[in-house]
Amino acid sequence: MKYLDEFRNPEVAARLLEEIRRVITRPWAIMEVCGGQTHSIIRNGIDQLLPPEIELIHGPGCPVCVTPLEIIDKALAIAARPEVTFCSFGDMLRVPGSNSDLFQVKSSGGDVRIVYSPLDAVRLAQQRPDREVVFFGIGFETTAPANAMAVVQAERLGLTNFSMLVSHVLVPPAISAIMESPRNRVQAFLAAGHVCSVMGTWQYGPLVERYGVPIVVTGFEPLDILEGIRRAVTQLEAGRAELENAYPRAVRPEGNQPAQAVLEQVFEVTDRTWRGIGMIPQSGWRLRERYRRFDAEARFEVGHINTAESPLCRSGEVLQGLLKPNQCPAFGKQCTPRTPLGATMVSSEGACAAYYQYGRFIPAGDVEVAR
Ligand code: SF4
Repeated sequence: MKYLDEFRNPEVAARLLEEIRRVITRPWAIMEVCGGQTHSIIRNGIDQLLPPEIELIHGPGCPVCVTPLEIIDKALAIAARPEVTFCSFGDMLRVPGSNSDLFQVKSSGGDVRIVYSPLDAVRLAQQRPDREVVFFGIGFETTAPANAMAVVQAERLGLTNFSMLVSHVLVPPAISAIMESPRNRVQAFLAAGHVCSVMGTWQYGPLVERYGVPIVVTGFEPLDILEGIRRAVTQLEAGRAELENAYPRAVRPEGNQPAQAVLEQVFEVTDRTWRGIGMIPQSGWRLRERYRRFDAEARFEVGHINTAESPLCRSGEVLQGLLKPNQCPAFGKQCTPRTPLGATMVSSEGACAAYYQYGRFIPAGDVEVAR
């Protein structure tokens, strides 16, 4: 297949669904790790077309959703400073901190700007030596290489007014945490194709062996997802646990090695707290000592900030696959995209936002779906 519409071909989708129905004999719970996959599943109604034996559990792979509240509050404190120009991707502006969000800081006179690349923030720092320019560097292995490049570029240019608030998280430790949770129900994973296009698949083999769980690297189009599910179910039914790459047009086993080299140069692995989930050991990146002078947390001394989540929001359970968004009592009532209580309703990759956007107001168990 060469063109995008070929990955949405309804006849091929019907054949894949038929194959899944043919092999399945019992219930299975499969987690799609990435929020982009969750949106594709809900937008295309894939969850409603699958046999009832398959439960798709929505994973924690949304960078905006898992950025810890404490980091959001630190971002708000830094952005409110008069000497700071705070640069962020647009998704982060409405993410609620304990008492406010970046939009409110902006409307109160803070210099908060939406950028489309971390290099835009570096350029701004070059143009405005009178300002402290801070970039909000969040996300998984997909966004981290560009952020690492921005730090390298800032060093090359000798900038002293550029820094980054870093909150990067890593997928493999999250898979370990899910598998080691006493409440875990996941029996197979659809791994995020774009993460693997950067990092390769070599980190996933040890997880398959340690936990005896099938992992299928999967893309984002409807046929990619159905093929990932078909392969996962086939393995589960055969009692196999293997690593399979169902996204070979983008993912090679070794990944993007120049990107991995710049990540290794700039970042080191650290413990990281995930919003709604808690601390996962060795699950994030921070700047290495050599680049620590670009660390906004140290530069602006925002270490002592107390945080408080909304008592109504149950996004931690949503992010761990323990609750579907439309099972949250606040869903579509106190919590909407205009009045979000949690990051999973704000983010364009958030599971709550997907359910709201595509009208899933009734829990799936209560709906009669024609098959
Ligand atoms: S619907 Fe809103 S309140 Fe409920 S879990 Fe999602 S973000 Fe939190």
